[in-house]
Amino acid sequence: MLRIEQPIDGIRIHYCPGDENTVALLTAACQRTLWLTTELWRLSPPTDCRVYTMRSALGYLLRSAPWPQKTIIAVLSPLVWVMLRRSWHLFPAWTQRYRDRPTIGIKPRGLFEKTDRHVSLMILNQEESIDRRIESTFCHELVHAQSAHLKLPMWLDEGIAMLTQDAYLGHPLLRPESLQLVQDHKPKRPPVSYRKLPGQPKGDIAYHYARAYWLTRFLNGRHPHVLREILSRRMRHGSIDRLVARELGVPRRKQWQEIDGLAVQSLTESRPEVSTEHRT
Ligand SMILES: [Zn+2]
Repeated sequence: MLRIEQPIDGIRIHYCPGDENTVALLTAACQRTLWLTTELWRLSPPTDCRVYTMRSALGYLLRSAPWPQKTIIAVLSPLVWVMLRRSWHLFPAWTQRYRDRPTIGIKPRGLFEKTDRHVSLMILNQEESIDRRIESTFCHELVHAQSAHLKLPMWLDEGIAMLTQDAYLGHPLLRPESLQLVQDHKPKRPPVSYRKLPGQPKGDIAYHYARAYWLTRFLNGRHPHVLREILSRRMRHGSIDRLVARELGVPRRKQWQEIDGLAVQSLTESRPEVSTEHRT
């Protein structure tokens, strides 16, 4: 039987007995994350966000989906299970949106600790305690929940979530050396979609997250008005690309070949002014 905690208006945490420690960490992270997302991105707090401690991907989907989708997921459950199996070990949490309702699934502490960290360890700055990782991951997912209505491209969706983690943790989430990964990675293609991300080699997944982080950090430091505009309303991904290309003065057709180099050059020339560290 699920229990429910409501740490703040608009967010309800559904959890199983035994997950109380995890729920305490999520509760602690709520208020600060909502303050940060308003300060950094002017995102509104969610009005109906449901959070579930997640012991299996399929169980989470069946619990969190509204009725019509619940039935479809139940009928297709063998297929859904096969699809989710390849990504279950890679992600400690994920967020999705049903109409106007975002939901977050996050693994309770015991399962969270077992998540495959190969990709994280390639790019993350420093080892955090498990409790700190759970709080920071929940902060990341809450940003996704708050921006879900914008249907952002993967690079920007992940970028603002990771930069919010910077502010939450009080230090940059990614190691400076991950900038080298962005510089060196070939080929320079447009960002991958969420659907295709889990099927990529781990080195490519690390690149896509590092690119998302550094590109968003570059835009936030040097072209913050562009980010503000993109985050103010829902835009087509093509329109976002055109806006960014125009702002950076690069031809649209070569945008994703050139953008990594532009971001890396700017960030290595002037690190201090792109800091997103926040002080309370
Ligand atoms: Zn994410």
